[in-house]
Amino acid sequence: MRRIAVVGGSLAGVHAAEALRERGFEGDVTLISAENELPYDRPPLSKEALISGVAMERLGLRAPEWYADNAITTRIGSAAVGLDTARRAILLDDGTRAGYDGLVIATGSRPRRLPSTENAPPVQVLRSIEDSLRLRERLRPGRHLVLIGAGFIGLEIAATARHLGLDVTIIEVGQVPLGRALGDEVGSWFRTLHARNGVEIVCTCTVETIERQGEGAVLTLSNGRTVNADVVAAGVGASPVTEWLDGSGVQTANGVLCYSDLSTSVPGVVAAGDVARWYNPLFDEEIRVEHWTNAVEQGRRAAHTLLGEGEAFSAVPYFWTDQYDARMRFVGRATAASEVAVKEFDDERLVALYGRDGLVRGAVCVNAPRELARYRTAIRDQVRWDDVGEAPSRIGG
Ligand code: FAD
Repeated sequence: MRRIAVVGGSLAGVHAAEALRERGFEGDVTLISAENELPYDRPPLSKEALISGVAMERLGLRAPEWYADNAITTRIGSAAVGLDTARRAILLDDGTRAGYDGLVIATGSRPRRLPSTENAPPVQVLRSIEDSLRLRERLRPGRHLVLIGAGFIGLEIAATARHLGLDVTIIEVGQVPLGRALGDEVGSWFRTLHARNGVEIVCTCTVETIERQGEGAVLTLSNGRTVNADVVAAGVGASPVTEWLDGSGVQTANGVLCYSDLSTSVPGVVAAGDVARWYNPLFDEEIRVEHWTNAVEQGRRAAHTLLGEGEAFSAVPYFWTDQYDARMRFVGRATAASEVAVKEFDDERLVALYGRDGLVRGAVCVNAPRELARYRTAIRDQVRWDDVGEAPSRIGG
């Protein structure tokens, strides 16, 4: 293999490129990215960078000279629009083609957007540096921010906006925030956390219309209420970026379909990060994970597979979110859990376990780092639900 192309210049892509060099690959490595910046880190965009502004030198995943030092050619501001797997060529938006012998697909995900209507004001989303700067510009003290969606990104923006002195209302379709990701018990803890910090969360409610009103907007909710907003933002999930693969033979279905070693339906093509949907033998299911650690680990593993050193990727997913003084850490899988046990639940701390098929599958720990390490091991070692220590008080299942 002489030439490896990595499409997607972010977390998974950079770690794939780095792993190729670490494993002694001496051929050409080209990193192709649609964004105009060198690869940067996204988690600060909803947290400290939204408060203090974006300093690229602090957000950059690698120093600018790292790319030349490692003989990695960057094609920044260049989007792949098609893939010709028969001729092993990537079609780029400037009409040129980039050849490859091996290909890493690392195009990540993009925020879902609400359908726009004629008189609607802009609804901000948050994925890129540009989004973060645009939103920051509008988050002025005393303004009213209305957020649509109480998922992780929405809740982080809410906490940051409160820190900046805005009034915040969140409209959420579910019974509680984070209900779909973590269940109602854990979601209710986050609802209380935000209420304590002055955020109003309107649950079991959707936004029916958004209309421009002066510099701001007026939203009509499904419960009949109208809400005035100075700024409207949405965090309603993300979708994998795969349309450039249409017709290429690389199979996709809610992500790029991968085998357990992250290889795809086309030889010489692997995928990693938010875009990859793979069979995880530890959970015996196909999953797609939109979290930082997964993108790092998969980027590396996909590179190994391309070099013929592939093995099953069965890492325990890990995710963190920081809101106010709550440091939440999650390991494993919560979706499809048949049992939920809340072991600690007070203003300071939260510890809850998720189980399925008699095994511990996931754990959420807020301000409880020691428990997290213990449960991560239990999930990795497939410990039985009844053997995790003191008997949980079962409230689900
Ligand atoms: P992405 O980061 O999505 O990068 C994909 C790259 O590919 C992008 O640069 C994109 O422009 C480029 N691209 C897309 N299509 C093309 C194309 N056709 N041609 C060329 N390039 C293309 N995770 C956590 O675990 N904890 C957190 O606290 C946390 N906070 C977050 C906060 C925010 C605001 C966001 C947006 C994400 C957060 N995440 C967090 C998630 C984490 O950042 C992602 O899981 C991670 O960025 C995924 O990396 P990736 O490389 O797979 O994809």
